[in-house]
Amino acid sequence: MPLTKPSIENDALMARYPFLPQGNGFLKIVLEKNGITVNDLIEETWLEEVRARGRVRLLESVMHKEGVDSATTIDLTSDLGKMTESLSFLYAMLVVCASFNERLLARWVEGEASRADQLFGMDEENFILLAKSYISDIKEIPDKLGRKVTYWIPMSDFIELCPRISGNYWRLINRPVENGWVCMNSGAGETSQQRTARLIKERIREDLTNSCLERMNKMDDSFAELFSDPVERVSKLLSEQVKEEMPMTAAIREDWPPCFESAVAELSQGINVNHTGRLFLASMSLAMGISQEQACGFFVNAPDYSADTTNYQINQIYERKYTPHGCAALKTGARCPVSPGDDRLCDQEWLTHPLKYLKAKQRRRFQGNAERVIIQENDKKSLNEDNSS
Ligand code: SF4
Repeated sequence: MPLTKPSIENDALMARYPFLPQGNGFLKIVLEKNGITVNDLIEETWLEEVRARGRVRLLESVMHKEGVDSATTIDLTSDLGKMTESLSFLYAMLVVCASFNERLLARWVEGEASRADQLFGMDEENFILLAKSYISDIKEIPDKLGRKVTYWIPMSDFIELCPRISGNYWRLINRPVENGWVCMNSGAGETSQQRTARLIKERIREDLTNSCLERMNKMDDSFAELFSDPVERVSKLLSEQVKEEMPMTAAIREDWPPCFESAVAELSQGINVNHTGRLFLASMSLAMGISQEQACGFFVNAPDYSADTTNYQINQIYERKYTPHGCAALKTGARCPVSPGDDRLCDQEWLTHPLKYLKAKQRRRFQGNAERVIIQENDKKSLNEDNSS
């Protein structure tokens, strides 16, 4: 993040993008100017429209794979419109923080960051100002006719952000570089501005997540309790939505090791999964007998999803018969979600590979089924004996 952010005097702009790093001060001013306290935001009748817009923003990020709708019907030229748009964001953020649910947080942040990506990609007038709020610098070079602009960004920003995005465009070796500047030329059907906005989305996601985690840590239970109704509603919706989006496979879900389960769950919620996690997901799917098509289905909600790249990469893994990583490599690659005491099977010394976890679970399930069949047969037998006597 740049050490000094550009100051933004335009209130309509701040209302459209209240998540900007400069947004905290702006939201405080809006609250003060309108004589609103955080408690008013929760209960005052005249603020119902703000809460309703906040709920829509929140539900859209939970329900829509592509993030919240970038279009708003609120008139940002009026003071009421600016207040509604900016405070609805604050209300949604407070509900998310009061849930203390990191999955809900990730989902909401993904929705807001995707929305920002779309809006930044279209906002030619303010793009430089917006970009300078998230990256250390940016320069625009017009083409010879002065019609099209290509953006260049410092290599340090590119190197930090590009590993989080899949696709050849985002590898430094494929980007023109000059004197420490990386060329963000148009590609994959997007303009230079849209490509740069996609990169900035990664900073927005990180910045918003960090500031919400900080709020969550400071929030006490009595304050969080004030949001219990909307939290309950949105958490229920999230769990229903996740269940609906989860692709079911031939393998029984309860047998899945936590590392596989968490990779599938995170991708289906639009959370970025690192390279180790993606490779593991594909190779483990192969080892579990999941079809190539179903394995591709796990990636559909990934923030950087591209059907062609996914099909190609999964095909490579299935053709070359990659073996899934063991527990040690997954732990090193930050893809083992359990800590000692979380899962009794994972705590076993012999459990060195997720496939061992799967086999142990299946063995137990078959034993359990066999025992149930024996009990049922014995019950039937004794019933027959009773009847005949
Ligand atoms: S201990 Fe092994 S099987 Fe269990 S979650 Fe971690 S990586 Fe997966």
